[in-house]
Amino acid sequence: MSKKKQPLRPKHVPQRTCFVCREKRDKRQLTRLVRTPEGPVVVDPTGKQNGRGAYLCDQAACWDKVLANGRLLNQALKTTISEADLAAIAAQRPAVNEPH
Ligand SMILES: [Zn+2]
Repeated sequence: MSKKKQPLRPKHVPQRTCFVCREKRDKRQLTRLVRTPEGPVVVDPTGKQNGRGAYLCDQAACWDKVLANGRLLNQALKTTISEADLAAIAAQRPAVNEPH
């Protein structure tokens, strides 16, 4: 009887870099923001939407920075985000780990 060994493959977890803190994280811990071909910048929960994308991690500090200063997003996406788009993104802010 021959025993076949299953090759042990390390699980590949896709990583993305948060455009605010520049930390690499598991893709699922980041929110993709995408500048759609039509213009508006939206939250892309699928990660598959067309357009130029930037990843934002789930740290409250990073979200605070972006929502307080739309220019960070403008630089990352080479766009000029409108107040309305920024407000729409703010409304979709994920549950974050607020310091107590
Ligand atoms: Zn971050």
